[in-house]
Amino acid sequence: MTFNWQHAQAFQQRVETLNLHGLHFQHITLCERRAWMYLHKVNFAQWYSKVATGSAKHSTSYQRDHSVRGLIGLAPDRIDWEKRIVYENKGSGGAVEASSNQTAFYAVMLSIATESTWQAFIHVLTTRKKREVKIDKQRLQSLWDASLRLQTLAKQDNVPTAKQIPLCKACSLAGFCGYDDPLCD
Ligand code: SF4
Repeated sequence: MTFNWQHAQAFQQRVETLNLHGLHFQHITLCERRAWMYLHKVNFAQWYSKVATGSAKHSTSYQRDHSVRGLIGLAPDRIDWEKRIVYENKGSGGAVEASSNQTAFYAVMLSIATESTWQAFIHVLTTRKKREVKIDKQRLQSLWDASLRLQTLAKQDNVPTAKQIPLCKACSLAGFCGYDDPLCD
């Protein structure tokens, strides 16, 4: 099916100009500060042992499929080129909206590039279930809005303010934000 989206070219241009990829769309859905840090390449994961351990586990357990080799800026975990489906692996079914935007981003970029509609699925590793992320009007609007917010954050010099949220407990930036103290709960 042909992919029709009035903002397709503008979206693609913004993505290329800002060098955006899936994780930007995940982060912006979760927390603006986290997205700002990621955009400005501020990364504390190396010294945050919890995340360092998690990263090592991810690289050994969830290795990407050979189907995605050679894709620059697009890094879903698996692609079915024949059926035009992208799959993103997630350890749990949490952060639904953020994971959905990340996975939808891959499908939309491939849809724009091939001018054919792609489907997106999240594969939840703990339950072994697949969940489809529908690329409908609402999802496209959500990606468009996210790209605009990312554009604003990319130009912004100061770190955005951030309220404590449940995600802070597992965020590599918790020490920086002062949200790593259990008394803050
Ligand atoms: S610790 Fe919380 S507020 Fe700070 S960047 Fe992470 S998610 Fe955002």
